[in-house]
Amino acid sequence: MTRPKKKWGQNFLRNRGAVEKIVAAVEPAPDDVIVEIGPGEGVLTAKLLELPNRIVAIEIDPELAARLRTKFGDKLELRNEDAVDAPLPDTPYRAIGNLPYNVGTPILRRVIADPHCRRAVFMLQKEVADRVSAKPGSDPYGFLTLYVEAYASARQLMTLDPRSFHPPPKVRSAVVVLDPRDPGLQSSREQVLDLISASFRMRRKKLVNNLTGWREHTREQVLEAMGRAGIDLDARAETLALADFDRLTAQL
Ligand code: SAM
Repeated sequence: MTRPKKKWGQNFLRNRGAVEKIVAAVEPAPDDVIVEIGPGEGVLTAKLLELPNRIVAIEIDPELAARLRTKFGDKLELRNEDAVDAPLPDTPYRAIGNLPYNVGTPILRRVIADPHCRRAVFMLQKEVADRVSAKPGSDPYGFLTLYVEAYASARQLMTLDPRSFHPPPKVRSAVVVLDPRDPGLQSSREQVLDLISASFRMRRKKLVNNLTGWREHTREQVLEAMGRAGIDLDARAETLALADFDRLTAQL
């Protein structure tokens, strides 16, 4: 066994019940490719290989990649690459992974924005999972929540205690299931997310203060647009839903 490397977030899952539940949540169609991110010692991989689907695994650690090649041979398409920018399939696929904590968010963001992704089942830090599935007005609600909502519906499948891993991480983890969907926006996702990003610049400030000066809009222009979009002029970004930001984008 190799020594777990902290820099790559190597906390290996040791909970059999969780392995079964996470893999069962993938629910692939027969021709979906399954992309596993960060297979590590291969605990999820072994279970995935019982499925008839083509399995691709992306592992950054060359030592673990070599071990996985020996363990699974040709059955597994193993790529020793960085999942932050590695090529993803250009045919329908489902992603799965107990994501490394330091790059969990960028990997989640690129996968759900990818047009070929049909579902993603990701283990994240519980705190990040809570941000992904937060409700307006709650503490974890913010840019990440709305980014995810612009691409997918999200639900939490289970929460895991640090003792489910070796070595135990400092924080709890949770598994989220993300199903890409069209949110039916009037403006482009990029435009709406650009506005959302500016709206959360200073979380405790009122929306009008965060947007004054953004893209050279005056306070009066922002207030008028908020009025036309039916948004309370004293509102803070954290109370608004994706549809509110969409209407405001159309007005600004
Ligand atoms: N899937 C295994 C499990 O559940 O036991 C390992 C999970 S461990 C939390 C994260 C895995 O992702 C490690 O194997 C680590 O080497 C790998 N990893 C870290 N950063 C990565 C990256 N940027 N691209 C691909 N794999 C990465």
